[in-house]
Amino acid sequence: MEKILYAKPVIDNEIEVLKKKCLELNSKGVHPSLKVILVGEDAGSVIYTRNKKRFCEKIGADCEIVKLDEQVSENDFLEIVANYNNDSQVHGILIQLPLPASLSHIDTTNLVRPEKDVDGFHFYNVAKLFAGNKGDKELIPCTPKGIVTMCRHYGIELEGKKVAIVGRSIIVGKPLSLLLTNHNATVTLAHSRTANLKEITRDADIIITAIGNPKMFGKEYFRNDQSQIVLDVGISSMPEGGIAGDCDFHQIKDQLKAITPVPKGIGPMTIFSVAQNLLQASENSL
Ligand code: NDP
Repeated sequence: MEKILYAKPVIDNEIEVLKKKCLELNSKGVHPSLKVILVGEDAGSVIYTRNKKRFCEKIGADCEIVKLDEQVSENDFLEIVANYNNDSQVHGILIQLPLPASLSHIDTTNLVRPEKDVDGFHFYNVAKLFAGNKGDKELIPCTPKGIVTMCRHYGIELEGKKVAIVGRSIIVGKPLSLLLTNHNATVTLAHSRTANLKEITRDADIIITAIGNPKMFGKEYFRNDQSQIVLDVGISSMPEGGIAGDCDFHQIKDQLKAITPVPKGIGPMTIFSVAQNLLQASENSL
């Protein structure tokens, strides 16, 4: 296995599958269409939405960034989402978070219909994970889905493995813990109140960090026997410019079996999963 687990080889390989699937859908009269609702001009959100659009278009799907003014009223915002929910030509809807302060009180979790919920956040879709699904046909949260796609590509066995996930958010850690459990891993879900975190990470076969604390995980969190695999979900902007993950990549890489870099690791896998979910939603609409 490669030491540095980049997303690019995974995506280069898998994108052909998506392109083919898109053409098949076209031949059945379905033209996958995603609406990304972007309210305001948050710099990070503008970049994320642009990347999603680019990737969808690469596979032959349609993606419109629906830009709404930061001052849009709650009623107008809700009406726009409802209209896309009711439009049979729209297969996927994604509300880019965070919403501006004026709308931040809205719980967006269940706003998008489950069958168009390419983020996989709707309770109906989350319940599929509770029920034991592995995410092959269901719309499940994109970062967990991307992690499983990456593991499959690099031959990282999950069954029977001890996996430590650090971070229990509703978009990454919690759904990931269910998904990997469904893939027969034995999962420990750690968080800021976890005691003996180092013992947990040192004992695991695979460690997935998703906390947003740049370079927190140094060499003391891992064994020094090149047997552990680290998947770093964290993305933090650094004061000196650029972004960093939760792990101190250069300090720990030599003592590990493999590690994902930040950038170019899990981030692109998340965008890839959005496109996968869009095609799945389009197929399910037949
Ligand atoms: P949240 O802020 O919602 O959750 C952070 C989690 O980390 C919480 O569960 C918190 O614990 C835990 N935590 C914080 N500090 C510590 C600590 N010192 N020790 C142990 N646990 C800690 O974050 P998100 O899940 O939304 O995002 C996490 C990171 O992943 C961010 O950097 C984000 O930018 C990135 N991200 C990257 C994506 C990608 O595609 N690569 C996609 C989504 C997010 P507690 O619950 O106790 O507060």
